[in-house]
Amino acid sequence: MLELRNISAFYGDSLALNGISLQVRPRQGVAILGRNGAGKSTLFKSIVGGGPAVQGEILLDGQPLARRSTHERIRAGIAFVPEDRRIFPHLTVEENLEIARHGARPGHACHEAQQSYQLFPLLADLKERMGTQLSGGQQQILAVARGMVARPQYLLLDEPTEGVAPLIVQQMAEQIGHACAQEGIALVVAEQNVWFARQCSEYVYVMDTGQVVFEGTWEDYDANPQVAEKYLAI
Ligand code: ATP
Repeated sequence: MLELRNISAFYGDSLALNGISLQVRPRQGVAILGRNGAGKSTLFKSIVGGGPAVQGEILLDGQPLARRSTHERIRAGIAFVPEDRRIFPHLTVEENLEIARHGARPGHACHEAQQSYQLFPLLADLKERMGTQLSGGQQQILAVARGMVARPQYLLLDEPTEGVAPLIVQQMAEQIGHACAQEGIALVVAEQNVWFARQCSEYVYVMDTGQVVFEGTWEDYDANPQVAEKYLAI
């Protein structure tokens, strides 16, 4: 289990997260909802390290992560796909996936290209295409496939639908949800697109000004419409 206990995060003197506690169980789908600036990206950067200064406890299967480098956290089973995706623009889809294999733990069975294409059939038709020639949705699928190459236990996805056409958002939800289920990966998805988040998760946290202001199942979320009105409406 990935567990955050009373996490606060600082950029210099400025408090960006204030006492966040949350849990993600193996294979679970968890959505983090919140407006721009609510603290979703900061939450992910706190989990992977190398970002803001963090106080509180982050535990992976009961082991504290605080003293581990980002590299070690990733090797321990956490993958992070940031909002800007970081696809190598002048490499092909195949080469982008190949690079992820080089970064994986030695001796650890990671995906061969064929497995990535099986999980994300859309990429199979694009393997020779350069990063610059991909649409926003294709780049996002590639970024997720790359995040899965090392077979993480937990995949953190930061606003995957941003800048992606609605029809593609639907395909992304299907492909990402299916791939995580098939691989047994717990997905933590930060989103402003509630529809997408709902397709990929069973449990939801709502954040506002660096705090968790709601948590529950989607049923609980639907039973409390004031939460969306107060914290998600623009
Ligand atoms: P967005 O969707 O806009 O990225 P978010 O929910 O991910 O929103 P964060 O990016 O985590 O929110 O921002 C949380 C708070 O921390 C905001 O007030 C933001 O201005 C601040 N912040 C984020 N990154 C930095 C940084 N590098 N230095 C200083 N303050 C930052």
